[in-house]
Amino acid sequence: MTVLLKKIESIEDRESFIPHAEIEQLLEETKNPDTKQVQEIVEKSLQKERLTPRETATLLNAEKPEQIEIIFQAARKLKEEIYGKRIVLFAPLYIGNHCINNCSYCGFRIENSQVIRKTLSEEELEAELYALTSKGHKRLIVVFGEHPMYSPQFIARTIEKIYSFKNGNGEIRRVNVNAAPQTIEGYRIIKEVGIGTFQIFQETYHLLTYKKYHPKGPKASYMYRLFGLDRAMLAGIDDVGIGALFGLYDWKFEVMGLMYHTKHLEERFGVGPHTISFPRIEPAVNTPLAHRPPNPVSDEQFKRLIAIIRLSVPYTGMILTARESPDIRREGLKLGVSQIDAGSSIGVGSYSSQDPEIVKKSQFILGDTRSLDEVMRELAENGYIPSFCTACYRAGRTGQHFMEFAIPGFVKEFCTPNALLTFKEYLLDYASEETRKVGERLIQSELERMPQERRKVVEKLLQRLEAGERDVRL
Ligand code: SF4
Repeated sequence: MTVLLKKIESIEDRESFIPHAEIEQLLEETKNPDTKQVQEIVEKSLQKERLTPRETATLLNAEKPEQIEIIFQAARKLKEEIYGKRIVLFAPLYIGNHCINNCSYCGFRIENSQVIRKTLSEEELEAELYALTSKGHKRLIVVFGEHPMYSPQFIARTIEKIYSFKNGNGEIRRVNVNAAPQTIEGYRIIKEVGIGTFQIFQETYHLLTYKKYHPKGPKASYMYRLFGLDRAMLAGIDDVGIGALFGLYDWKFEVMGLMYHTKHLEERFGVGPHTISFPRIEPAVNTPLAHRPPNPVSDEQFKRLIAIIRLSVPYTGMILTARESPDIRREGLKLGVSQIDAGSSIGVGSYSSQDPEIVKKSQFILGDTRSLDEVMRELAENGYIPSFCTACYRAGRTGQHFMEFAIPGFVKEFCTPNALLTFKEYLLDYASEETRKVGERLIQSELERMPQERRKVVEKLLQRLEAGERDVRL
């Protein structure tokens, strides 16, 4: 077995853009950095430059408390400077949990006899959309297991139905996708219906670990998955999200894997990932590995990796989901996270029905079960602007993150006003009384901080919303 794995490693590693030996060497060579070195690297990040793998490795090896504090402070500063105070909100929508893979950590794996298999029917999808839009959601990530029934045509039809759904003022304006890697032709079919981000997580970038925990099905091929987003790009989808599942292998290696993946996409396609995700393994029904991950990541390490990813790739959106507890999510927001889900339910069909068996239809168990309204209120109380903005995507301004990043003043000119407009829509249509009060105060204080000219424009748009118009944006 070991000989076989070695052979696979040498074949695949040679072709891979994840140079295992180089990563290990960098992590070895940069041990015990001095504080001056750490300071110099974070200065480079603060100039909004992507770090080199060696620099990221150095930050990963910065273990002294004062060094960690330098990293945390810089991450907070960079986050504020680039992204302002906006936090993008979305909800995951599980379409089906049939799966032909057998990923050891996943509740949906084919050999998990305790999971209840389900795919939403057309009526059930509508019921889910009704429930989601009634709460105020505007942005979804749709999730599919890997199964022939979830063909590109099926995925495309599902997305079309979602976009055509209306519920009073409620509608879904952006659908991101988390599904199996596709062929180029498959991606083209999905692209046709207008998707947001296509997300594929490599789970672990470490080849032998990958082989160990993905023993069966198409996902057993490390390389097919690794190049999954290259094929998406070749099919014309230039908005992709990468991710690693923390807990399978050494966390420092996984961060390096994410950096090499980013570098590869930048070098090959001239555009890096739109988002980076970094979920930790969470318990799932009848899934021992998920209860005892082989390489658990502590909260302290987790905060460090968030800050280091923020500093290493300043332009990329960072997603932290409701897998994590509210406390960790609060910390993550300060250190670099720019997108979170809220009011999430991850069983198939679980937004629209109170199902006592929900855990058996879920991929894992959530850590933050607060409602959308509660999360919106807390964000506003803490000075963040909750945003459902989809303006750039719908105006055909793809690569939005690059605009935010590259065009001076873009965030202030467009993103912050658009965030306020979508927040106002939420306050008018869906918020509780308490959230409305907190939200209106936030909008007012943001208006007061704007230059006179911009303030006038935004106030007019807010008035149009109050008069009943919707989907008003810059
Ligand atoms: S992680 Fe994805 S591919 Fe693997 S078993 Fe779960 S649903 Fe299937």
